[in-house]
Amino acid sequence: MSKLDLSRHPCFNKKAKGGCGRIHLPVAPKCNIQCNFCNRKYDCVNESRPGVTSAVLTPVQAVEYLKEVQRLEGSLTVAGIAGPGDPMANAPQTLETIARVRSEFPDLLLCLSSNGLNLPDHVTELKKLGVTHATVTVNAIDPETGKDIYAWVRDSKVAYQGREAASLLWSRQKEAILKLRENGILVKMNSIVLPGINDHHIQDIAEKAGEMDVSLLNCIPVHPSPGARFENIDEPDKAFIDSLRKKASQHVPQMTHCRRCRADAVGLLDRDRSLELAPVMRD
Ligand code: SF4
Ligand code: SF4
Repeated sequence: MSKLDLSRHPCFNKKAKGGCGRIHLPVAPKCNIQCNFCNRKYDCVNESRPGVTSAVLTPVQAVEYLKEVQRLEGSLTVAGIAGPGDPMANAPQTLETIARVRSEFPDLLLCLSSNGLNLPDHVTELKKLGVTHATVTVNAIDPETGKDIYAWVRDSKVAYQGREAASLLWSRQKEAILKLRENGILVKMNSIVLPGINDHHIQDIAEKAGEMDVSLLNCIPVHPSPGARFENIDEPDKAFIDSLRKKASQHVPQMTHCRRCRADAVGLLDRDRSLELAPVMRD
């Protein structure tokens, strides 16, 4: 593997967003938790706008698709897996895709975005495969708040609810983030801002992110999927998000240029080509 320039990830480095593009390979359809703002029929809002990915690909198809896209879109510096479910709830497909991409595209940075539940067990392997960047979505570190965010969290074959679910999820997220950092993988934390549910708690999350050596906190205004339990929750406005970020920046640097990309995003953050290139994926 050639020496990779870690600064060429447009989400972790705003200065790179004009010249460095990313591709999300949609190989991970299943999810292991149920967030109350998400309706799985519509996609993961963990990293995606509601709206299904154009297709779900196998690892082999994903690499063929990437070869074709790289011919058409010269900006790509990062390949990531961000759904449409959770990459680690589809660990075999995710790991195989990453291994194939690493072997065919040694110059691409590799990244993934996960809710963290099944992440700790795979960090060593992800490091070995050359993953350089990871995002963990943390919407609560306090189970009293988290109990209202997750309908259930499923670990192996057991489904947890309420405080128990939220507590288990945060304990795995914490373990995953610490392991990622120990392995030198850069970590971004996403927090979906849910007015009246966790907005009072974002500063606690920011403080924890700072303590855990997270590179960036990305406070994302909720954009609930139709049919989700929170489908009528108000989407916070820009002024509110700006004020949360300003306070949170005392603890950890803030991401301010997130585009809430689809699970099949392609190209520069400000010039997404996923819809235009969808026919290539379906070929
Ligand atoms: Fe939906 Fe993502 Fe939450 Fe899973 S982790 S329920 S796909 S928002
Ligand atoms: Fe980057 Fe945000 Fe898009 Fe993820 S959703 S690839 S963090 S811009």
